[in-house]
Amino acid sequence: MKPEDFPKEIRPYLQPFHQGRLIYRCLGCQAEFGIEKLAYVCPQCGQVLLIYDQNAARLKDISGELWQRIFDYRRMLNLDALKGIYRYHEFIGPVIPLEAVIYLGEGHTPIIEANPSLQDKIGVRFYFKNDGQNPSASFKDRGMASALSYINFMLQKGYLSEVLAICASTGDTSAAAALYASYLPGVKSAVLLPHKKVTPQQLSQPLGSGATVFEIPGVFDDCMKIVEALSDNYNVALLNSKNAWRILGQESYSYEIAQDLEYDLSHTVVVLPIGNAGNITAVMSGFLKFYEAGIIDVLPKIVGVQSEHANPVYRYYLEPDEANRQFVPVTVKSSVAQAAMIGNPVSMPRVIHLVKRYNKLAGGPRTFFVEVSEQDIMDCEILANRNGHIACTHGGESLAGLMAAQKRGVFDSRDVAVLDSTAHAIKFAGFQEMYFGQQFPPDYNISPKQDLINTPVYVHPEDLDKVPAPGRPLDGKDLERFVARVAQEIAGMLGLKKV
Ligand SMILES: *Cc1c(COP(=O)(O)O)cnc(C)c1O
Ligand SMILES: [Zn+2]
Repeated sequence: MKPEDFPKEIRPYLQPFHQGRLIYRCLGCQAEFGIEKLAYVCPQCGQVLLIYDQNAARLKDISGELWQRIFDYRRMLNLDALKGIYRYHEFIGPVIPLEAVIYLGEGHTPIIEANPSLQDKIGVRFYFKNDGQNPSASFKDRGMASALSYINFMLQKGYLSEVLAICASTGDTSAAAALYASYLPGVKSAVLLPHKKVTPQQLSQPLGSGATVFEIPGVFDDCMKIVEALSDNYNVALLNSKNAWRILGQESYSYEIAQDLEYDLSHTVVVLPIGNAGNITAVMSGFLKFYEAGIIDVLPKIVGVQSEHANPVYRYYLEPDEANRQFVPVTVKSSVAQAAMIGNPVSMPRVIHLVKRYNKLAGGPRTFFVEVSEQDIMDCEILANRNGHIACTHGGESLAGLMAAQKRGVFDSRDVAVLDSTAHAIKFAGFQEMYFGQQFPPDYNISPKQDLINTPVYVHPEDLDKVPAPGRPLDGKDLERFVARVAQEIAGMLGLKKV
């Protein structure tokens, strides 16, 4: 719709109008400093940071209802910079000029109601939010759009010139980083991946985008240490979720859920997997910001899910007494939720901080942590996809987590869950192949269920001596016989009746 066709009272708000005063704040010593420089940790105490808007109180000058209408009308606005995560510009990056926004089609991923038989089977109403339908096929694009728009802004202002962007990755961060960096002139990217611990599809992505790809022995946590050493000692831009700009962009996930559910989250449960804990940080932070601005009046329940093979956050919250909780990193084991196979999550201090605030503002426990088995993750992924979904293994983890949370009594009868399928199923096709081929190495602890296995059937009737081959087609009688026999064979296997 053209700007002049919008209602008069909305027109002044269609384009971003709020001027934020963004600062980094340290979660350890509360020190604050400016955003003119890329920073990842506090220069005074070394803790992780979050970005705050010192002008945030002004967002309350606009009523919650008016904000809702602004976002709803922006849906109809054909302005590239506001088509993705920056529909919520005032809450995501109110210092980034629209000319600096990088939009590659991220965000506004569909919320798909689970099919009726699957909902019956599970016994809860639920939806998948398909974040695999982002441009690089995972939710990481939300954070990269924010981080790279910020870098672009710094380039345009002349605060930065040549940028080398780096990240450690379990696969999807590097795919997103390489994609967004390759779009932006003046930015090159290098990614560090744990050798043989990303899928071939994920490895192909940064290679295709022209990034320099390093494979490192060990697991993600080892790669992260190297990237931290590089970013501490050299002039590079770190694109891991340690970079607080990533968190800002990923808050869009919460804003979209609010908007998709007509801003009524009174019976909503948001379920998502936890790896480095950047995503759950962003999801909590996003709901908190909308809550404080009066855009939503209930904070939804949040369920964070971890695999038994990589469960440090779950273990931390096992201790009911806040004063006795102690964070202990774990040594990870092989996991099909490979993008979440992280034993020492960088965002743990953010999670601890936000969980306290979230439950305090909600007036009671609204955050829950569950663990699930590798078997359940894999079974649930396949089950979901047999019911019309495109869940990745982490989407399967969300579904397994929903069932675990239900057992724990997290749900009441009116609750509806939104499950994060964080990436696209095809990125993790190799795990499905291992399941169907019954080839899982023992360390995964997964035994395929016969009724979920599916394999192709090769059709070559024994009495057929001539079959076509590429470059060697059949013709005449040979072709007729081939078609007739193969059709007959398939009809027999499918038990088809003649018309
Ligand atoms: C990165 C990732 C996760 C984990 O998210 P964190 O922010 O690291 O907790 C889960 N699923 C997929 C597909 C991912 O790429
Ligand atoms: Zn500090």
